[in-house]
Amino acid sequence: MQGKLVVFTAPSGTGKSTIAKAILADIPTLKFSVSATTRAKRDGEEDGREYFFLTREAFEQEIARQGFIEYSKHFDNYYGTLKSETEKVLNQGYHLLLDLDVDGALNVKKRYGNRSLLLFIKPPSLEVLKERLMKRKTESYDKVLMRLARADYELSLADQFDFCVVNDDLARAILEIKQIIQRFLNS
Ligand code: ADP
Ligand code: 5GP
Repeated sequence: MQGKLVVFTAPSGTGKSTIAKAILADIPTLKFSVSATTRAKRDGEEDGREYFFLTREAFEQEIARQGFIEYSKHFDNYYGTLKSETEKVLNQGYHLLLDLDVDGALNVKKRYGNRSLLLFIKPPSLEVLKERLMKRKTESYDKVLMRLARADYELSLADQFDFCVVNDDLARAILEIKQIIQRFLNS
């Protein structure tokens, strides 16, 4: 049986990482796809767990040798899915959970078609999104505003995804997403 790819996309601060953690704990055949990035490590993050933290030069070398399934650049940093990591986990017999921006998600669909499931997680409103970003305290106010501006663009592409789920009540959103993924993995 071939491994499948489940992609989570959401405007930054929606609650995607929180939901991903719960889903990964509940579905043992699903493994997190660790992307590469050039952004600075946040407190509590570990190289090789949340991301592979690369220098800009190392990332650009990897682009040149076509080492990414997809990559994009935003907030002035590169983010990309390493071909080698993806193949390693799929060859071990697992399915993958990828946390990607909208462009990355739509590129995965182009490459993998029905072997991939794109899930867009929506905040209840832009006001709530701003509150969650402020509460997380990982970005300066300027960066919060940049992320909110990008949220408009991302929300405008949500209808190209296989499913959209609103993260209002966390437990309800996790349950809904778990059911969608289990149906997809069993199909
Ligand atoms: P993302 O990965 O989408 O950027 P996080 O998972 O880091 O977002 O969540 C952003 C903040 O919002 C965190 O402080 C998290 O605890 C909080 N949060 C997530 N889901 C909910 C929810 N349904 N209701 C209230 N707060 C939430
Ligand atoms: P953050 O800096 O908050 O961890 O992530 C910022 C954005 O980059 C999020 O929307 C996240 O989904 C996206 N992202 C993370 N890894 C990748 C990747 O490998 N490829 C693409 N295209 N986007 C990614």
